Amino acid sequence: MTIPAHWRIDPHTHSTFSDGTDTPAQIFAAAAKTGPGEPNLDVIGLVDHDTFAHYGPATQAWKQLREAGEPVPSVLLGMEISCQLATGPEAHLLAYLPRENGPALRSIVDRAQGARRERIEQMVALLAKDYPISWEDIVSRLSPGQTPGRPHVADALVRAGSFPDRSAAFAQVLHRGGGYYVPRWSPTPLEAIEATLADGGVPVLAHPFARRGAKHYLTESDIAAMKQAGLVGMEVWHRDHSERNVQRAAQVASRLALAPSGSSDFHGAGKPNRLGENLMPPQTLEQIIALGAHPFLATSA
Ligand code: AMP
Ligand code: FE
Ligand code: FE
Ligand code: ZN
Repeated sequence: MTIPAHWRIDPHTHSTFSDGTDTPAQIFAAAAKTGPGEPNLDVIGLVDHDTFAHYGPATQAWKQLREAGEPVPSVLLGMEISCQLATGPEAHLLAYLPRENGPALRSIVDRAQGARRERIEQMVALLAKDYPISWEDIVSRLSPGQTPGRPHVADALVRAGSFPDRSAAFAQVLHRGGGYYVPRWSPTPLEAIEATLADGGVPVLAHPFARRGAKHYLTESDIAAMKQAGLVGMEVWHRDHSERNVQRAAQVASRLALAPSGSSDFHGAGKPNRLGENLMPPQTLEQIIALGAHPFLATSA
């Protein structure tokens, strides 16, 4: 499939199936809005964390919007897998267009979901000594199949009046050094890449140089090892990359022959990121569609 050079593609957003605050239908409708200052997107990617739960509902929402004659972008489905390197840094891997419930990713997803719950429950037990929040309250608000994460703990802290928003809760207590942090199991990036390829997906590294304490940066040799394992692309343009790190990411992508990408990483009201603030080049999308096993939901052929 040829992707027109003028297409606006935001390939990385999160919905209510993980830690975004908008439903897939709300994201699609917002993405399609045209006019000055609107996203004006031709393609939207939905990559909820460590889950396939959004696949069915997102596909249904997209079909319903089309049948109702509402403006709707083409949709690129996938997931974002939280990974952990033995040497310290975290990495987030985008798996684009893997087969729904493919067995390799399914086993990572199942294990990650269990580890996430256990870990959040432990963090909440620690936080509950100092803040009026409870695990029951958090769990009762999760919808079936929704991936739990620290953002839902942040929301509980905001409801309790302890912090004004998610960002403040992360900055003060939820980050690694915040005093309440509990680690959890995650696959390594190489395991996640292998599983993505096994299920017909296309692995793309998300925000490799996001600023989160410089000693936790991935190195170029970490990324070279991922390329060896079958990594296809990496994000260059992302708001968590400083200007300097955008340059660095562009150089690394070019040296390692990785398809460059950019995205908003939109989380609805959960983060300041706005739809369409960074985009994927059309050639990168062409490559992903050519390699991916799951259909690309194309609005206009
Ligand atoms: P977890 O998956 O439980 O490790 O939590 C990490 C998630 O929290 C990421 O997917 C981010 O979307 C979100 N997150 C990280 N930092 C912040 C922040 N400062 N403000 C809001 N959300 C954040
Ligand atoms: Fe997130
Ligand atoms: Fe991420
Ligand atoms: Zn993300």
